[in-house]
Amino acid sequence: MAAKKILNLKDEKVVAAGGSKKESNIIFIKRSVWKDMLHHCEQTKPIEACGILSGSRKGQCEKIWKMKNMKQSKYSFEMNQNDLEKRLRLLQKNNEVLTGIYHSHPTAAPYPSKQDIANAHYPDAAYIIVSLAHSKPKVRCFRINHRTMCPMKIKLWN
Ligand SMILES: [Zn+2]
Repeated sequence: MAAKKILNLKDEKVVAAGGSKKESNIIFIKRSVWKDMLHHCEQTKPIEACGILSGSRKGQCEKIWKMKNMKQSKYSFEMNQNDLEKRLRLLQKNNEVLTGIYHSHPTAAPYPSKQDIANAHYPDAAYIIVSLAHSKPKVRCFRINHRTMCPMKIKLWN
């Protein structure tokens, strides 16, 4: 049916452009990536853990790339800029995009610090913070753009 085909094409176009406003406030994370990320944060405690997530399109996290916290600090993190750039080039080569940047707060709540906001240079990526302040990890996610932040919903999928 021709009419249906046109509709599908239209839908694809919307998704490729980043989805509707509502849709761009949701981050989809593969369940195995989610588990890996929490595990990495628990393992690195009491130091802050950090890493990036990638996917075939914006808003979708399919792979995890653990990074070293150059600061080895309990209260802040910094990725190695060369490693990050190398990874981003590889993603581009594989037609993937940077979809998430995660780090842990070993003792603080899952909200970005002033420094986190100042250092957020990727407005298209979701900033994920894993708090290990309590026995169960608490995770919150934000889009940070020009020092303004907007909470995002996290949805897990297989
Ligand atoms: Zn932080």
